[in-house]
Amino acid sequence: MSALLPVNCWDDILPAYRNTPVADLLACHNLRTPHRSHDRAELLIGMCMDNRIMLRIPDNYVYILRAGGANLQRIEFKVSYAVAVGGIRTICLIGHDQCGMAGLRARRDVFVNGLVENGGWERREAERHFDQFSPVFEIRDPAEFVFSEAQRLRERYPCVMVAPLFYQVGEGLLYQITEGGGC
Ligand SMILES: [Zn+2]
Repeated sequence: MSALLPVNCWDDILPAYRNTPVADLLACHNLRTPHRSHDRAELLIGMCMDNRIMLRIPDNYVYILRAGGANLQRIEFKVSYAVAVGGIRTICLIGHDQCGMAGLRARRDVFVNGLVENGGWERREAERHFDQFSPVFEIRDPAEFVFSEAQRLRERYPCVMVAPLFYQVGEGLLYQITEGGGC
């Protein structure tokens, strides 16, 4: 189980993130701290495509990859590009509540009907499309997913810091995801 740690002041930022681009993002977005000027990107953000997520980010500082559920598994080459060519050593993965990729299977009818009506697809093709790809992209708990995805990326890119974060849609603030449980 994971836990969400709020960032309401500078001291709330986990020690491991201080003096890193993760702290820069948290301070800029949550604390509205004025940011330094940057001449190159130092942070890669992987986040959901959901239109309700709006981040305050330092100018010229961030690459952003957006994919449903913040699932980067199908766009990993772009992560590699940001690391290899862009020189990125820090990644923030941002999940969020009310994510459409969670509980995807329950929305099969909505998806199929929408693809027929809005996309002009044949119903059978739309059903096949959903059945083929929904198991690939469906996630269970958005915070748990981002937490485990961060661990996977740390193993894949051992020199890169990967921070799992969570965006609460209602209040528009970022949280740090940590290993929960115990006391
Ligand atoms: Zn989402």
